[in-house]
Amino acid sequence: MDEQIMGEQFIYDLCIVGAGMFGSAAARHASTDPSIKVCLVGPAEPTTPEERSRRSFFGAHYDEGRITRVLDAVPACQILAKHSIGRLRELEEVSGMSFYNPVGCIFMGGKNSNYMTEIDLAGRAEKVPLVYYHDENELRTKYPYLRMKNDECAILDENGAGYISPRKLVIAQKKVAKSQGCDVIENEVKEIISHSIHEVKTVSKGTIHAKKILIATGAFTGFIHVDDLKPIALERLRRTVALLHISKEEAEKLRSMPSVIRHDERLVGAYILPPIKYPDGEYYIKFGPSGKLKNEEINSLEEMKEWYLLNGNEDLLKTHLKFVTELFPKIKLSNVETMSCACCYSLSGLPYIDKISPTVTVACAGNGKGAKFSDEVGRIAAKLSLTGEWDSEIPKEKFKVIFQ
Ligand SMILES: Cc1cc2nc3c(=O)[nH]c(=O)nc-3n(C[C@H](O)[C@H](O)[C@H](O)COP(=O)(O)OP(=O)(O)OC[C@H]3O[C@@H](n4cnc5c(N)ncnc54)[C@H](O)[C@@H]3O)c2cc1C
Repeated sequence: MDEQIMGEQFIYDLCIVGAGMFGSAAARHASTDPSIKVCLVGPAEPTTPEERSRRSFFGAHYDEGRITRVLDAVPACQILAKHSIGRLRELEEVSGMSFYNPVGCIFMGGKNSNYMTEIDLAGRAEKVPLVYYHDENELRTKYPYLRMKNDECAILDENGAGYISPRKLVIAQKKVAKSQGCDVIENEVKEIISHSIHEVKTVSKGTIHAKKILIATGAFTGFIHVDDLKPIALERLRRTVALLHISKEEAEKLRSMPSVIRHDERLVGAYILPPIKYPDGEYYIKFGPSGKLKNEEINSLEEMKEWYLLNGNEDLLKTHLKFVTELFPKIKLSNVETMSCACCYSLSGLPYIDKISPTVTVACAGNGKGAKFSDEVGRIAAKLSLTGEWDSEIPKEKFKVIFQ
């Protein structure tokens, strides 16, 4: 493999840059045809603090919990998510990995609030079957340990909603892509120069040559030089993940808990995941803000790296811990840890999936919810890169890149 790269002999049909949620999904879909030579280039998650400190580029998928749901205020996101979620079980089987937990996702917010009305209308528009809880008594028939305020109501999405391990999903996508003949090259890309073919210059694995490229570098898009790619309008935001440690016994009590998105008209809302066993063998309830907070923007690669080497913003706990403690006041929580992550947002509110030249395609901007529809974004982007065809019932204009 390295010999082919270093010897500058080998020309890939498609080189996918960025081995995260969108890129790894694209690699799996693009490599289903064995006659097409595909490679996926991007570093795997760092495994030690030293490795982390040497890195320039990170992924938003270094975690064990991401909410999956069909119900979304944006109808196009519902369609993307429905297709993605529909393929997760098959991917688990093919990869031999387990990463999907369809425990449901409950939306909570003020009765007659704009948020709940919007969610409800969007669900009805796409005929997403929903369960309504008008007060706490109704909610407690299904989830006896959950609390809801008098002025709140809830809507449950059980259409395959729940949570996934983004870390394991990426590993599974890469594993299947590899088994289909895709070369997975774990390295960072410094720049991409384009003549008649594209030269993808890596930090330590030489130059990869490809006829077509797909840029799927998440929040880092725009931070390396890519010939032909003008600056894209992206907002990159600092995100803090909070992990509340709970005992195995407490986790057992919450075994049936769904993912929760709780909205508060005055504050930014919060998302809360059920207890998940993390790689250290301990159980954690993960939560974080579900909207945008002030002073979170990241404008350079240096700022991004600095942020990823911190442990998030601990002040977030002060404002957001109450979302969790109000939900289940009886649960005993012990220590809380925080971690840094970053999301990128488009101007359209949808991911950018667009062919910006005959040989360069872009797939980025999960808008804080890209995990749930990553497989469908990857599938559409792979097809668009390889054939130029737009293969979705959602009009392609909605996904056009907006440049600065
Ligand atoms: C705290 C947090 C909570 C979230 N919660 C949810 C949720 O509950 N539900 C949900 O659906 N989504 C959620 N998301 C969003 C979701 O994780 C992202 O939308 C998704 O990961 C986007 O996929 P991506 O492939 O665009 O980016 P990423 O998954 O970040 O992948 C980008 C990849 O590109 C690589 N890369 C970047 N630059 C280079 C380079 N120069 N060379 C090589 N490789 C490069 C990176 O290493 C990375 O692996 C959350 C995100 C965060 C941060």
